[in-house]
Amino acid sequence: MPYCVNHPHRETSYVCMKHDIAMCEECVTCRDPELYCKHRTACPIWFEYKEKIKEERRRREESEAPAYGESASGSG
Ligand SMILES: [Zn+2]
Repeated sequence: MPYCVNHPHRETSYVCMKHDIAMCEECVTCRDPELYCKHRTACPIWFEYKEKIKEERRRREESEAPAYGESASGSG
């Protein structure tokens, strides 16, 4: 198995066919999301990347909404 481009000790199965690099679950990000990629339809990195984008967008929307009933616990 290949190793993550950012974590040389981490084995991963996410490989970018276009750039010929591997990325671990933590680093998995499409490098050229705006550009056409012929490998995209079968790319596990692209799949994970899309999920991350969705998650981030949802979090941002949540943080923009006013938060009520904040409970402060365990500080000190
Ligand atoms: Zn990594």
